[in-house]
Amino acid sequence: MCLGIGPGDEVLCPSFTFFATAGSIARTGATPVFVDSHANTFNLNAEDADAKVTERTKAILPVHLFGQAADMTAIGQLAQAHSLHIIEDAAQAQGATWEGIPVGGMGDFGAFSFYPTKNLGALGDAGLLTTSNDALAERARLLRAHGCQAQISSRSHVGGNFRLDELQAALLRVKQTQLDEWIALRTGNAAQYQSLLAGTPDLILPAAAPGHSWNQFTVRLPNRERRDALAAHLRTAEIGNEIYYPEALHQQPCFAHLPPANCPVAEQLADQVLSLPVFPEMTEAQVAEVTHSVSAFCA
Ligand SMILES: *Cc1c(COP(=O)(O)O)cnc(C)c1O
Repeated sequence: MCLGIGPGDEVLCPSFTFFATAGSIARTGATPVFVDSHANTFNLNAEDADAKVTERTKAILPVHLFGQAADMTAIGQLAQAHSLHIIEDAAQAQGATWEGIPVGGMGDFGAFSFYPTKNLGALGDAGLLTTSNDALAERARLLRAHGCQAQISSRSHVGGNFRLDELQAALLRVKQTQLDEWIALRTGNAAQYQSLLAGTPDLILPAAAPGHSWNQFTVRLPNRERRDALAAHLRTAEIGNEIYYPEALHQQPCFAHLPPANCPVAEQLADQVLSLPVFPEMTEAQVAEVTHSVSAFCA
């Protein structure tokens, strides 16, 4: 909305992500153009994005999925070559970095979510935008509260209610002081999984890139049948697990009217992925227990 993107415009975004990524594009009236992902990072494939640029493409919306930064070097080059805006979906990646730069600090905008499942969760719904551009910041402030400007009652823009309420903000101010510590604990859990699960047959572990903030620890199985069977096995052992995401976005009924997207890796990932518990409060013994259960299934 701040960038004036709307009907007739196209915005590139990954197909393998949470729905809100594409939803935010569609709600402006623009068309989401679905891009395939890299199987090893789960993140947008910039080469495929390049092949899908048209005269109508206005922006690219990379997601830093599961807490790992997308390849912002390749995405930056692509955006520059085609004069595209970059909007980073950093909802899952508070505290993550790309070559030392914090996510949300590289695009025209970065969008963060404080939904309770994120690394920094509110007591309910909350979110935040970042930008280094003063004019865009001013536009965002205008739109966040129904187009209201201080002391001016006439409206130049139609906004909405996109406010972060004060109660959530107060809670987040206290919690955020511990974010680095929580990410360090997540990173420790991920490292323990990496060493204990290395070499497990039929199990592909996530790439441990520098700057990962480990919102999710997502493994891959050879196919949907094995993946669903491991999920059921863990449930029986009362070990929490979740499939993020069982379907790619180009497969959603609400996008059936769009041209075919051709995202074979996104479809493959939807068949293979399973996220294991990695939350900061997990004990070493709990990580070991999950590991034993996974190893017993894969043996
Ligand atoms: C959680 C999430 C969002 C949306 O966050 P809300 O706070 O629910 O609006 C957007 N994108 C991704 C990738 C997410 O995981």
